Amino acid sequence: MTNSENPFSEPSKLPFELPPFAEIIDEHYLPAFEQGFKEHLAEVQNITSRRDMPSFENTLVPLEQSGQTLTRVARVFYNKSSADSNDFTNELEEQIAPMMAAHEDAIKLDSQLYWRIKTIYDQLDDLGLNAEQRYLVERYYTEMTLAGAGLSDEQKEQLKEFNRELSVLTTKFEKNLLADTNDLAVVIDDVADLDGLGAGEISAAAEAAKERGLDGKYLVTLVLPTGHPWLSDLTKADVRERIMTASRSRGSRGGEYDNSELVLQITKLRAERAKLLGFDTHAGFVTADETAKNPEAVATMLGRLAPPAARNAKSEQKDLEEIAGHEIKSWDWAYFTEKVRTAKYDVDTAAMRPYFEAEKVLQDGVFFAANQLYGIQFKERKDLIGYHPDVRVFEVSNEDGSAVGLFLYDLYTRDSKRGGAWMNELVAQSYLLESPVVVVNNHNVPKPAAGEPTLLTYDEVNTLFHEFGHALHGLFARVTYPKFTGTSVFRDFVEFPSQVNEMWMLWPEVLANYAVHYQTGEPMPKELVEKLEASRAFNEGFKTSEYLAAALLDQAWHSITSEDSVTDVVKFEAEALAKVGLDNPAVPTRYSSTYFAHTFSGGYDAGYYSYIWSEVLDADTVEWFKENGGLTRANGDRFREKLLGVGGSKDPLEAYRDFRGRDAVIEPLLKRRGLE
Ligand SMILES: [Zn+2]
Repeated sequence: MTNSENPFSEPSKLPFELPPFAEIIDEHYLPAFEQGFKEHLAEVQNITSRRDMPSFENTLVPLEQSGQTLTRVARVFYNKSSADSNDFTNELEEQIAPMMAAHEDAIKLDSQLYWRIKTIYDQLDDLGLNAEQRYLVERYYTEMTLAGAGLSDEQKEQLKEFNRELSVLTTKFEKNLLADTNDLAVVIDDVADLDGLGAGEISAAAEAAKERGLDGKYLVTLVLPTGHPWLSDLTKADVRERIMTASRSRGSRGGEYDNSELVLQITKLRAERAKLLGFDTHAGFVTADETAKNPEAVATMLGRLAPPAARNAKSEQKDLEEIAGHEIKSWDWAYFTEKVRTAKYDVDTAAMRPYFEAEKVLQDGVFFAANQLYGIQFKERKDLIGYHPDVRVFEVSNEDGSAVGLFLYDLYTRDSKRGGAWMNELVAQSYLLESPVVVVNNHNVPKPAAGEPTLLTYDEVNTLFHEFGHALHGLFARVTYPKFTGTSVFRDFVEFPSQVNEMWMLWPEVLANYAVHYQTGEPMPKELVEKLEASRAFNEGFKTSEYLAAALLDQAWHSITSEDSVTDVVKFEAEALAKVGLDNPAVPTRYSSTYFAHTFSGGYDAGYYSYIWSEVLDADTVEWFKENGGLTRANGDRFREKLLGVGGSKDPLEAYRDFRGRDAVIEPLLKRRGLE
């Protein structure tokens, strides 16, 4: 294939440089990656082969301009391989992983490049650079140092080998998990076993079975966390048990999709790599380049939260056992929680779903809140197409009509999509490259049968707001350098804007605008809303415990040193959880090791703590909005200007101080989660 035939060889001519999905076929990816690697290396070589003294203009600027073909193909490919994969892209992803790792190493470990950047870094005060430029130099210097650019050649070879092996193992982990998750979907023969589910869910289960050639049966497809959303509704305990057992056995059943050995190999290799880079543990290495700075800070924070969370879960369990009349098992928790919620707070979350019709939630809830805060408008562009027929494209513009970017929306679950919900940047903003912005939100909402409405659960509505917070972070970027665009911030900071956006879900003006009955058009009854508010801290002991268990497990796996030898995943996991008092069998960890994609394949290694870390900022920001009048343009504009638009172009805690007028405090989080 020649260059001119490959749609990745130049920027797209479509509005906002939307990737030309109609032209892209699977066979384009590999040649584009190969071309991208080659070009990028040549561009870097043009920098390092210069004979003049290093300067910002002759080093950092061309570095930031380099690798554009690779960026184009990688952004589209990794979105495709997570949102609409097939056998071809799965194989290709495995093939590309080590190539990508080797390519990144070749640049990050380039001694000549490191020397140039270090030279600039050493005279940082004398160069007359602006704040963003200075920060760019600092970030490159820190990242390359941590990547090992200062190591000897021999050590670098060793490091590259670690990186290559790790990329293969983590990719394998992810593929195993997807395959095992599909295999473990629970087949239900008799519709009576689905008692408790709504008509929409039952038709979704029938549809899922049909897609697998199981006509007349029902399929409960597993989702990523341990707890399946239907466990709160299914009345038959044995069916709930089957689903929970399937969910928890992912990656640990023996056979070709077992991830146990991979967990041991990955954590061992990460510990060895950390040692080579001068750290005792992988957690030490990772947190050195986060806002947390070291594992002790993480341990202190998690340690402060774990005991009260475990205690609260225990007391919740008592309430559940009282109403159930028997001991509560892990598969009973969600079910009896709904019963207690109904009894104690008289809140029936199932009764809310008719008020959460997906399109209304999106347009009159998520978009409406953004319009009230930021003045932005949304127009569906049916003339533009996404990477799958289900994907919808919206053009986003400011109040004055000026362009913001494109927002792609991919709501429904399918076998080709990985679990969870997330945001991707398909085209990322920067002034240097005059680049527009295109972002996508992916969800895994079951698709109802044709003609049926999509009625969301409470959690799904929350997730829509959450992911759109990430989308805004990407859409509002206004940075000069591509490195800093949108969500390119520290991992323990990146969840902060998305968590803040969740606050608008129940904000009275927003809720009133979208939560209307899909048939009658009646607003959600006021009592329902008030009870919901009153019951918000309810079940927080469970939710905090299952999350903290996973976060601590992630830290534990990455606190092993290269001398430690762990041989038993189950035992290690049990001991790690017992040590922090989060080993209540009725409250399983949100993810067990063998299906903990965040930490073993998802880029959250030693970083799953980030969610609660950034929630400190989130809860403190929610207080700020409340203190200042809530949903107003003035508040939105301030948040957009001081935080969202800044992306990664300045120290995030400094950006936070600019916005808040002080550092964040932890009290609002403790209060929110009932942990005071
Ligand atoms: Zn998120």
